[in-house]
Amino acid sequence: MIFQDPYASLNPKMRIAEILQEGMDALSIAKNSDERQRRIDELLEQVGLEKASKWRYPHEFSGGQRQRIAIARVLAVNPNLLICDEPTSALDVSVQAQILNLLKSLQQQLGLSYLFISHNLAVVEYLAHEVYVMYLGRIVERGTVKEVLHAPKHPYTQALLSAVPRIDGQGMKTIRLPGETPSPSNPPQGCHFHTRCAQAMAKCREVYPGETIITATHRVHCYLAAE
Ligand code: SF4
Repeated sequence: MIFQDPYASLNPKMRIAEILQEGMDALSIAKNSDERQRRIDELLEQVGLEKASKWRYPHEFSGGQRQRIAIARVLAVNPNLLICDEPTSALDVSVQAQILNLLKSLQQQLGLSYLFISHNLAVVEYLAHEVYVMYLGRIVERGTVKEVLHAPKHPYTQALLSAVPRIDGQGMKTIRLPGETPSPSNPPQGCHFHTRCAQAMAKCREVYPGETIITATHRVHCYLAAE
């Protein structure tokens, strides 16, 4: 897992080599010390850091470098799936781009899958193949990037996309959602979105809408899509 805040996710008392080694030791990945050191050097190179970085401590690195170390730490255990929890949201915009490019190239080189959690739709469009939109803990729409971000069917997805500012002023008309987000531990009956949906009908307040199949890959939980 790659966490959101690289200032909190690395142990400040451990050198980088120890941080990278911890998972390898736990899963008995390297046979001996030489092999471990070789792997640590290789990992640092893979994420664009110098080999000598391994003798330093986390506080000696910038936010972007720390996130590179966090990526090296997950690669150390040869994963198939990486869970990336908003891994760029705590970074400056220029550094965000570097980390996203690194994640994209590692995905291609190593054949990794990412479960990437984000509020930034531009990041989702850049990195994802398949998108799941959640509201109050439930998936309300899913599909390919093209389907969900360019032809959204659920009113919540449409509202999210309408909130993205466009420099050319050509974006969708902003859809304002009234009221507050209800508590996920006590969601409203029926469609959880009905308290904020301008298109809510009587049945929306009673029964949660089932899945409507738009295409083989595009699915929506909304009565409007079923009509
Ligand atoms: S099911 Fe009803 S309340 Fe829910 S998103 Fe669709 S129209 Fe709005």
